[in-house]
Amino acid sequence: MTDTYRHKGLRRNLVQEVRNKGIEDERVLEAIFKVPRHLFMDTGFVKYAYKDQAFPIGCGQTISQPFTVAFQTHLLEVKKHCKVLEVGTGSGYQTAILCELGAKVYTIERQRELYIKAQSFLPTIGYKATFFYGDGYEGKPSYAPFDRILVTAGAAEIPEKLKAQLKEGGIMVIPVGDSSSQVMTRVLRKGEDEFEVTEHGRFVFVPLLKGKSV
Ligand code: SAH
Repeated sequence: MTDTYRHKGLRRNLVQEVRNKGIEDERVLEAIFKVPRHLFMDTGFVKYAYKDQAFPIGCGQTISQPFTVAFQTHLLEVKKHCKVLEVGTGSGYQTAILCELGAKVYTIERQRELYIKAQSFLPTIGYKATFFYGDGYEGKPSYAPFDRILVTAGAAEIPEKLKAQLKEGGIMVIPVGDSSSQVMTRVLRKGEDEFEVTEHGRFVFVPLLKGKSV
């Protein structure tokens, strides 16, 4: 599948829609414009790729809504060369957005099928990230600390192990709540034992599950 002028036009409209919903971060909007979301969709849903909605990607999971991706990415304050840990690779769409922003991305997925698909697909469209199959609750201690940690599934609480893998001055963005909805939470590590936690509205994510599937 290719990326055509028609797709670019649809993406321009999507960017406008996301902007109208309150995202003003031009770097994030530019990344949304650049990443060909239709290439990340399951075949049955390709025609909806530029709707601002979440869609199924198999294994009972979803590709996040572009507005949500933009919102989380903006809160994360990704700078060039930032070392970012993403928990919940899914389709790899959010991974590609982080790569567009110049981040060095480490991403973990607990569904083997999704992990394999994203790992083999992203490099074919020019996005280099490091992919892991495993339980993101554990983070990736051997690669820690991270400048940024982004969790793209809803967690019951902020995992202590992830907090511990955040650099001083680092930021984690994580949706926290029960299965019905979660509060977008931003954790800024101000010192060894000092964390500033702020809340940024309600969202609905698929759950962050413990362990890995087979
Ligand atoms: N960022 C993705 C969103 C996918 S939905 C995208 O843009 O497509 C969230 C993903 O988190 C799902 O694929 C789910 O399998 C994964 N997930 C849930 N719990 C996890 C865990 N403990 N470790 C790693 N991935 C997890």
